[in-house]
Amino acid sequence: MLDQSAIDQLRAAPIGPQSHLIGGAAVAAGDGGTLDVISPLDGGVLTTIARGTEADMAAAIASARAAFDDGRWSGLAPAARKKILFKWADLIEANALELAVLGVRDNGTEIGTAYFAEPGSAVGTIRYYAEALDKVYGEIAVTDPSVLAMVQREPVGVVGAIIPWNFPLMIGAWKLGPALAAGNCVVVKPAETASLSLLRMAELALEAGVPPGVLNVVTGEGPVVGKAMGLSMDVDVLVFTGSGGVGRQLMEYSARSNLKRVYLELGGKSPHIIFSDAPDLEQAAKAAAGSIFRNAGQVCVAGSRLLVQSDIHDDFVALVAEQAEAFKAGDPLQLSTSMGAVNSERQLKQNLAFVADAPGQGARLIKGGGQVRRETGGYFMEPTIFADVRPDADIAQKEVFGPVLAITPFADEAEAIALANDTVYGLASGVWTADLGRAHRMVRAIRAGVVHVNTYGGADGTVPLGGVRQSGNGHDKSMHAFDKYMDLKTVWMRL
Ligand code: NAD
Repeated sequence: MLDQSAIDQLRAAPIGPQSHLIGGAAVAAGDGGTLDVISPLDGGVLTTIARGTEADMAAAIASARAAFDDGRWSGLAPAARKKILFKWADLIEANALELAVLGVRDNGTEIGTAYFAEPGSAVGTIRYYAEALDKVYGEIAVTDPSVLAMVQREPVGVVGAIIPWNFPLMIGAWKLGPALAAGNCVVVKPAETASLSLLRMAELALEAGVPPGVLNVVTGEGPVVGKAMGLSMDVDVLVFTGSGGVGRQLMEYSARSNLKRVYLELGGKSPHIIFSDAPDLEQAAKAAAGSIFRNAGQVCVAGSRLLVQSDIHDDFVALVAEQAEAFKAGDPLQLSTSMGAVNSERQLKQNLAFVADAPGQGARLIKGGGQVRRETGGYFMEPTIFADVRPDADIAQKEVFGPVLAITPFADEAEAIALANDTVYGLASGVWTADLGRAHRMVRAIRAGVVHVNTYGGADGTVPLGGVRQSGNGHDKSMHAFDKYMDLKTVWMRL
């Protein structure tokens, strides 16, 4: 059970200036540069992180390359790697509250969500891949008897991972778990506005016995250190979660450098579709509100477009507005808080700009729309609901990445499908219906990597998460994620 007094003890714990983690050591930026870490809880400076330079990134990549090449990690017996990864998961678990509170002070997520979604999820992910690492192996192909053909699986070498700010530990572990389990060495670039808990999680990896150089962290600005990682000739695979704009740049960097494989998870504008025959409209309304207001809407799979069948539209909008009452922006470090802060001032301004533009594009404000808790100095926003949202409106097409729900009515199944797919994205979706045939038809018709039926969210580590269209390529989670971090080598041997 989470305990408020333990959280209160940690909420003001001093945080010293942070450095990169390169070759197992804390290393300041080469030019001594730092970036202030602004807490979204009160707008105050929490501490500083190293403002990495291109040379810092090059040093981290060189450290990972050296560690890979001498086999200090990939050359270990699988059982030894497994033991270390289990120890790492145990240490994260033992320090879960400290990690969660540190993360909340940095990124603003409400602690109840953060505790389970961040260290909690990271522990599960790392254990999953530790358990799996000796269960993935090669094949002997069926060939002419005069030949022995083997397909070997090998680690790719050096993995670069660029992580966003919404769930740094969860998303970080989705990359680090399979990458390290497969025997690779890694350089991580956390987001400017959420580096602290990831740095601490990486320190725990060292403590667990991950050899120096195997896991490196370089902090700083995306267009400097992220770009240097993207352009490196020595990174073999680049994995990324974040915005489409940066995703495109990473592909360009790859094309301009060594053609490294680039895997992107780019968020979405996920349709959540409520048919009037939904088995439980109350539950559906609860899920609709939860899917957009948890973590103040800063969730890549958020159900940000609610499509409601016309004959229940008005009643359902009222139900969702009622369920939204359960989400009130509050102190993210209070266990009773249902919705935390927006991650940064920049993100808050962006959210409010979407809200300001929506009525001019025909949307009707049902609820919320404003900044709240200004007296704290932090970045808080009300849960916001718009109805009558035209399919071409910005809040129906662009990823707000904030607590803003866009509701649009539809007449029938055909229109629901057309609206659902009227987006450049294809990450998640949801369908509520009691009609099994319709559920399957919708599953087939919706162009998305995930379809929830009569629920929304909650998928565990056993299933892949990835998008289609401009939501990205490749998958995090599940055994499928291993494919990103391994190469296939064919051995063709004449006998
Ligand atoms: P972003 O894409 O700008 O940043 C994500 C990561 O990429 C950060 O670590 C950042 O430092 C790095 N980065 C930025 N510019 C880079 C560059 N030129 N080269 C290499 N790396 C670079 O995302 P953001 O500013 O944090 O948020 C902007 C939008 O991204 C949000 O509004 C939201 O739409 C989307 N987003 C999606 C997710 C998701 O889970 N899919 C998460 C966070 C943000």
